[in-house]
Amino acid sequence: MERAASATHNSIRPLDNLSSETGYAATLYIDDKLHEECGVFGVWAPDEDVARLTYFGLYALQHRGQESAGIATTDGETLMLRTRMGLVSTAFDEESLSGLKGHAAIGHTRYSTTGSSRLCNAQPLRLDDPNLGWLALAHNGNVTNAEPLHAELAAEGVNFETTSDSEVIGKLAIASHGANWVTKYRRAMSRLTGAYSLALLTPTHLLAIRDPMAIRPLCIGRLPSGGWVVSSESCALMTVGAHFIREVEAGEIVIIGAEGLTSYADLPKAEQALCVFEYIYFARPDSVINKVSLYTARQNMGRELAREHPAEADIVIGVPDSATPAAIGYSLQSGIPYTEGLIKNRYIGRTFIQPDQHLRERGIGLKFNPLPEVLSGKRVIVVDDSIVRGTTTKPIVELLRRSGATEVHVRIHSPAMSHPCYLGVDTARREELIAHRMSVEEIARHIGADSLGYLSLPGLFSAVGQGGDQLCSGCFTGNYPVPVQMEFATDHKLAMEYVGEDKPPAPPRRLELDVDQVEMDLDRIPVGADH
Ligand code: SF4
Repeated sequence: MERAASATHNSIRPLDNLSSETGYAATLYIDDKLHEECGVFGVWAPDEDVARLTYFGLYALQHRGQESAGIATTDGETLMLRTRMGLVSTAFDEESLSGLKGHAAIGHTRYSTTGSSRLCNAQPLRLDDPNLGWLALAHNGNVTNAEPLHAELAAEGVNFETTSDSEVIGKLAIASHGANWVTKYRRAMSRLTGAYSLALLTPTHLLAIRDPMAIRPLCIGRLPSGGWVVSSESCALMTVGAHFIREVEAGEIVIIGAEGLTSYADLPKAEQALCVFEYIYFARPDSVINKVSLYTARQNMGRELAREHPAEADIVIGVPDSATPAAIGYSLQSGIPYTEGLIKNRYIGRTFIQPDQHLRERGIGLKFNPLPEVLSGKRVIVVDDSIVRGTTTKPIVELLRRSGATEVHVRIHSPAMSHPCYLGVDTARREELIAHRMSVEEIARHIGADSLGYLSLPGLFSAVGQGGDQLCSGCFTGNYPVPVQMEFATDHKLAMEYVGEDKPPAPPRRLELDVDQVEMDLDRIPVGADH
């Protein structure tokens, strides 16, 4: 039977014997999460302050990347571009925003997946075509064949100024035959493998492009003034007062200008493979992807989890903030009251997350304080979204026990992650993933839990209302939507910074699109237009 979730405030105990007994008992500084990719945002709105709108859009997408931020605007001729390391709030101030004038803009928040964390890799990138002029590019995703394409273009004399796969996309488009940007990007897309959701800016147009498998999200919105917005997530549309129109379709190129919105959606269809981790953790719960509310999907995951892995307990808590909707779902399904048991320091949040392992090991990351007055004497079900290395879960279990929990049952609202991601998510090397090294029982013993339960893959698909033919679940199954080289580790992100013998193994060749079909489709695209 279902019972409404509620906080439990009865049986509050004195705190005398629950104070910190060890140096770390009261606080956790450990990060064991997957890391997002990037956020892209674009505005075409001649009657609006496009730089300011983009700033607020990026602010709403800050969770997708915290390393660098950038905004590019145009007044129809000139490109104005500012990129800085750090958060959106520190990269821009009133003065810098007021210097970014124009009728259209794109913006980017970055978490590095290919290319290291430094200013030269910050986006938007400026690219110059000898015939078409400048173009600014913002990219979310990871191109898995960037390295051979980079080598091929370099051998043809193309110079690279960054070490990111995003520049490979842009330089490949410039090197591709075509009288306008559409034909150039169409041809480039036939050679790219992997994930790319792009926002592009020319002097006159805003373009949005999504890879043929639609691995990363990208949507379109409309401002009350009639202007257009493109965004990685719909939550940013709401932030700037735009209403959701639709997703950018798989393989689609959308061009927005004075003549309105034009769509080129004639690439041969590939199997869809939206990253299922967008539903589990990455995207904000107030976003909607493929008509599915992220908040509802996460509650459903919690409900499925309760059905698959029930436990006798007094309270359900979530690891804040990402697991809260699933913990509520677990509570609603099981009838066990939901309450807060861990408090996250919101002023640390993800601000301090850095992408490299050695920085993680310096102990920067999430910070929780327990609520012993809630936890003491209770059998606790703690819901979290995932376990990557297990470095956070074990201390959380200890923290709950030290705060008086008599039993700790860990429930994870995703399947066991036993494979790395090669499509734009910073996971870990396979040997670092705890589910690769241990069985569920061994992990439960390792983290000190009384029991451990992962949501099954069918349970996850049921919760999001989509199946394996529409979603990528490679990090759970090892079956990726594009060919990947299993030993090709996360150092791939630095692949284009290696030299000589230290170079890591080359990535696999792309999954070929039907180039003849692409060539045929290109004939239907009017040439000479300025986009
Ligand atoms: S492998 Fe996992 S994290 Fe990577 S795109 Fe697929 S579902 Fe997302």
